[in-house]
Amino acid sequence: MTRYPAIFIGHGSPMQIADGAPGRSFLERLGPDLGKPKAILIASAHWETAEPAVSGAARPETIYDFGGFPRAFYQVKYPAPGAPDLANRVVELLGRAGMRAHVDPQQGLDHGAWVPLRLMYPDADVPVAQLALQHHLGPEHHLKLGRALAPLRDEGVLILGAGNMTHNLQDAFRKMSAGDPNAPTEAWALAFDRWVADAATAGRFDDLVHYRERAPHARMAHPRDEHYLPLLVAAGAGGEGARAKRLNDEFIFGNLSQAAFAFDAPELLAA
Ligand code: ZN
Repeated sequence: MTRYPAIFIGHGSPMQIADGAPGRSFLERLGPDLGKPKAILIASAHWETAEPAVSGAARPETIYDFGGFPRAFYQVKYPAPGAPDLANRVVELLGRAGMRAHVDPQQGLDHGAWVPLRLMYPDADVPVAQLALQHHLGPEHHLKLGRALAPLRDEGVLILGAGNMTHNLQDAFRKMSAGDPNAPTEAWALAFDRWVADAATAGRFDDLVHYRERAPHARMAHPRDEHYLPLLVAAGAGGEGARAKRLNDEFIFGNLSQAAFAFDAPELLAA
């Protein structure tokens, strides 16, 4: 069975599923490049809970957790089956690492999960469970979550962190309302992107955890942590000191990074 790398991606907005949307073609290629796993565990920036949780619905709903988009985006379905067995296994692995976790049988797939999955696996035939974030527990907790779940990679499971390497929505909305998907990327976003990419590709997880104090323009790049935390889940799942391979370095709407990384990538991603 293939041992999957742990992947971090920029999840994009619902607009990403429109034909020709910027940043879309990378995700369309990524699915076929990786091949179809037995199941996917995806940590999206848009589900936060008090304690670790994983979705266990047999048929997860498509959640429209966004506002102000054209009506068509509220009718898109991503009918992938759920992965209740995987959810139970996640609880078991987290318990082994001393983290109490529970299965949420109701939680569906939010747009941080279904938007990229629909591009990566449009047939919706790979079972999916979603992993919740605990924003209040900070970056190191999410590295530990990933580390505890690393054995899944040997069980045919693709672990995906879906956030954004830079995520200043105020800035992005300004560019979006100006209708400028190709606005130039500013120095602060490039500097932050480069710093994180250097740390990830060198396997400097301590820097990734302490990015708020150490990375340039961290507050500008992430007024709040939630879109950064999935990167730590992926890094942790990659294994101690795993060096990341950068898969994508696009920005959309100026400063919104679509950077993607594979932690502990096998040869299939070496090319
Ligand atoms: Zn988001």
